[in-house]
Amino acid sequence: MPGLEDLYREIILDHYRTPRNRGELDSPPAIETNGHNPLCGDEITLFLLVDDASKGDAATVSDVKIGGQGCSISQSSASMMSQAVIGKTAGEARALIRRFKSLMSIEGIELQPGDDDIALGDLEALQGVVKFPVRIKCAVLSWNTLADALDRATSEPPASG
Ligand code: ZN
Repeated sequence: MPGLEDLYREIILDHYRTPRNRGELDSPPAIETNGHNPLCGDEITLFLLVDDASKGDAATVSDVKIGGQGCSISQSSASMMSQAVIGKTAGEARALIRRFKSLMSIEGIELQPGDDDIALGDLEALQGVVKFPVRIKCAVLSWNTLADALDRATSEPPASG
């Protein structure tokens, strides 16, 4: 009977081989943000489309597309991240970023009430990464890129003629 580690490995490989939400969005209106992990060579291009950006944390993440290339951890993490945040509010997405970075033992993350209750779904498969500190940067690359994109999406004035 396969153990939990085998199951997690299968989930990671599935997202690596069949990445979800791969592609591009028109920018604008989408925000395009790039992330790079020089330690491993991972690259992420993230397209984020937010509805009602002026609502700040109550704005809705309506679409995410992912481009780039890199190791299985970076690419599968980006795939899972895209799947997890589409349809959430910007505030919920930020809470999930805190939750995931806390799972990765990133220092300086201040969890807020309720963050511990957020369901991780497939993201649980990445928890073993924490045992390999050099890979943590791979796993959080797309999340840092998402955080940048969320900040830009909810702070930039909407484009107008
Ligand atoms: Zn990597």
